Amino acid sequence: MDAQIHATLSSLHSRHIQGIFAQNVDDASRRIMNLIPQDAVVGMGDSTTTKQLGISKALKERGIRVLDPFEPKGSEMSPHEALQWHKDMLKKATVSDLFLTGTNAITQDGRLVNVDAVGNRVSGMFWGHPTSVIVVGRNKIVKDLDEAFYRIRKVIAPNHVRIRSVELGGRDSKTPCAVTGECSDCRAPDRICNIFTIIEGRPLFTELHVVIVDQDLGLGWDPSWPKDRIERILENYKRFVWIPIGPERGPTGQRP
Ligand code: SF4
Repeated sequence: MDAQIHATLSSLHSRHIQGIFAQNVDDASRRIMNLIPQDAVVGMGDSTTTKQLGISKALKERGIRVLDPFEPKGSEMSPHEALQWHKDMLKKATVSDLFLTGTNAITQDGRLVNVDAVGNRVSGMFWGHPTSVIVVGRNKIVKDLDEAFYRIRKVIAPNHVRIRSVELGGRDSKTPCAVTGECSDCRAPDRICNIFTIIEGRPLFTELHVVIVDQDLGLGWDPSWPKDRIERILENYKRFVWIPIGPERGPTGQRP
């Protein structure tokens, strides 16, 4: 096991958070499945990493009820109906038995650092469910909080907006980063960087599992990494990312 992953798992343990190592996405899926009782209702937070694992589909195939507000909706719903369905599912997923999502960054000393636009994903990590499972690829491990916030502000958030709104034709975003790909700490009504959270220890009423996968997943990199590694992360992200609702562009998650 990579020394950085090993150190991060030990740090999680010291914070009373269950750290789990997975060699790859298949191994991660198997380990997550083992954590979920057959009668559990699973709520999903928006996460490209969980989509890359294909976990929502695998759970449904096992007969487990999954509340996934980020399931692509095609032509069976009008944009308005898709938006109502999405909001309804967000509420329902908030009080399920187990919440499953990803994290924007994890520090080597075991802190989970996130930004959210709506708040459902970050709050779901620590409130509303007896159990939360958070999956993270090795590329999202950072040295410390400074590096975590630098990555979120400089790499993750602006690229997230630009790729979804401009490259993939999702909801038209009026933030400056949609055009420039860089954060200017905007005050736009469409701003996605609304809620920052740091989880420092196991929430008192929530059992928290963090699965660290020895594979690059989701959106996140250090700008000093080789260009081809960054390109692979980006391409893989674009294949799986959820595209937000945009009445002007089509129903929830419908790809152009
Ligand atoms: S604060 Fe505004 S400009 Fe910066 S990444 Fe977030 S949405 Fe984009």
